[in-house]
Amino acid sequence: MNEETPEEAVKLILERLREGGLWQPHGLGLSYVKESGNQVTLTAQENTPMSAQARIRMRLLLEDVGWKVDETTCQLVEVEHLTPEQKHIKEMQMRQELAQSWKCSCGTPLSAFPLEEGVWKHEGQQDMMLPNGETEMVEQWHVLITCPTCDAEIPTDPYDYGLLAGDDEAMLTYKTNKIIYTAIDRPTIIDMIDSKVGDSLLILGTFCPFNGDLLPPHVRGAVVTFKEIERSEEE
Ligand SMILES: [Zn+2]
Repeated sequence: MNEETPEEAVKLILERLREGGLWQPHGLGLSYVKESGNQVTLTAQENTPMSAQARIRMRLLLEDVGWKVDETTCQLVEVEHLTPEQKHIKEMQMRQELAQSWKCSCGTPLSAFPLEEGVWKHEGQQDMMLPNGETEMVEQWHVLITCPTCDAEIPTDPYDYGLLAGDDEAMLTYKTNKIIYTAIDRPTIIDMIDSKVGDSLLILGTFCPFNGDLLPPHVRGAVVTFKEIERSEEE
C-alpha cells in the first residue's frame, strides 16, 4: 500500500472539490469553502482551543501545498451545547444553503436545473482512502444535469446532487431506459401490504430486475413501486 502524506491527501481533496464546495476536515471544527484560483475561505471555526490550534496548523499545511487561505470572514461558532444530532442537522442546513449558490458558467443556479431529469452514469471503480488510512474500491458515479439556459451538461457528484435536490422527488425516483422506480415510505408500504396490493412492490438489489442494468447505490435496498415507461407518451 502506498502511504499518502497529509500534504498529498489535502491536495487531492481540494482538487476534487467543486468550486463553492464545502470542506470540513474530520474532527477539527473547521469549515472551508473552495474558491477559484487555488484559494479557500475559512467560513467557520468552532470556539475551542483544539479548533484554534487546528486552524493554524491547517493554514500552514495549505500554504505549503500552494493554496491560499482567506480567514477574514471566519465566524467563531459555539458548539458545546449541541447534541450530535443537532450538529448534524446544522451541518446539513449549511451544506444545502451553500449548494443554492452553485452556478453554471452562464449564471443559472444549479438548483434551478430540471434535476429530476438528471442521468446517473457509472464510471467504474476507484481506490478511495478511508479515514483509517486503508484503501477500498468504491464505485464511481456522477449525475449528468443539463442547464435549461445554455444546455451545458454538468457532471455532478451524487452527494452534491442530493444536496441540490434536497428532499425533492429527484432522489426518490429512478429511471432505467424501460422502467421508472419510485421509492416509497413506511406508512405507504404498510398500507399497500394491508390492502393486499403488496405484489406491486419490489425491493431493489444491485441490478435492475427487468433489464440487468447496474443500479446506483442510493436506490439499492429501497422498497419501490415500478412502472414501465410508455414510449409513445414520452416521444
Ligand atoms: Zn448554463
